[in-house]
Amino acid sequence: MNTPHDSDLGATLERSRSGLRDSHRRSLMRLLFLITGASLGVFACLQALNGFWWVAFSELSASLLLFVGVFRLRTSPYLQRWIYGYLVTLFVFFLAIMVFPDASVTAFVWVLMMPVLAYLLLGKREGLILSAPFMLVGAGVYFVHLGQVNSAYLVIDLLNMVLCGALMLAFIHMYEIRREEAEQRLVDLAQTDFLTGLANRSSFQSTLARTIAECERSGNGFALVIMDIDHFKLVNDTLGHDAGDHVLRDIAESLAERLRGTDFVARLGGEEFGLILRDVKSPDAYELMDELRQRIADRELVYGEARIRVTASFGIAQWPEHGRQAETLFRVADRCLYSGKNAGRNRIARPLTAASGDYSSDTAVQCTR
Ligand code: GH3
Ligand code: MG
Ligand code: MG
Repeated sequence: MNTPHDSDLGATLERSRSGLRDSHRRSLMRLLFLITGASLGVFACLQALNGFWWVAFSELSASLLLFVGVFRLRTSPYLQRWIYGYLVTLFVFFLAIMVFPDASVTAFVWVLMMPVLAYLLLGKREGLILSAPFMLVGAGVYFVHLGQVNSAYLVIDLLNMVLCGALMLAFIHMYEIRREEAEQRLVDLAQTDFLTGLANRSSFQSTLARTIAECERSGNGFALVIMDIDHFKLVNDTLGHDAGDHVLRDIAESLAERLRGTDFVARLGGEEFGLILRDVKSPDAYELMDELRQRIADRELVYGEARIRVTASFGIAQWPEHGRQAETLFRVADRCLYSGKNAGRNRIARPLTAASGDYSSDTAVQCTR
């Protein structure tokens, strides 16, 4: 059975690579382009004043390119390539100003900026892969820059830089691991029903939308099932709310146990559950649910002195026969569920096969019971 991790929010996180959503990374990249472009413009003027014409010219050209990039990045579908292009060029530039014969020792502080930018824009794995080699080269250049490290003073200089860089990388890496874990926990919380541990309604809806999109591509069918516990209010009224909670947890467990790896189950609210049975034809979905119905009816829950037995009713809608849209499927399954309730409960209802196939309105749905 699928867990709540599979829902859209989690998938978006997976895809976004870094902790930032793509739209945020895009805004950040544009801001970086703007800041870098403006800074390079200023540096170009200073280099020109110092008489380093070729450096001034290169910096000015790069500055203009970055301003063009600010506009291109608004809609470019190649965000990842822009990020890599920017970071690699920037890191090479940092190294270049360090190997410059008259490089000021302060130029080496830019090595410390490498992991910050790489982790922010690329996430933990790719951030480490990109920044670590550049930082190593930066440390090598610094070592060469110091010349012969033959005094305690120079050893301190070297250690300050190397230790600071190594610690910076380690702390950013640790921070990113914790941040990812915390974000995953929040995503899980947002998608999980706190009482049963199943997926919640919003997770169910996004999974249903994704399943429809997948089935539109593959042509495979699936069944949407809504299940509601019969006379559940009676359990609460006679044994208390806590007993009702026990029943909900027990039912959730039996659903999770019985379903296949490809199926998805969620608590939609109250004593109502939703199921998505992938790759099944209508008769198989019916059989599977009938087995589940029997299993629930046979189950006896011990609660203190009491023995609790409940039954459940099911409404089934099949994609695409009973609707291609989530709302239509929901309406058909719900309509059948309540027709099953009216017919005496503890049963499974699905649309009559003889029906026209137009389930666009409530009245068009006629169910077997
Ligand atoms: P029916 O067979 O027609 O579905 O009858 P029912 O009693 O199951 O349905 P009804 O809608 O009348 O009552 C549902 C009850 O479920 C009322 C509400 O107190 C209870 N309920 C909803 N959420 C929870 C919950 O989280 N825990 C407990 N213990 N009870 C809940
Ligand atoms: Mg009920
Ligand atoms: Mg209900």
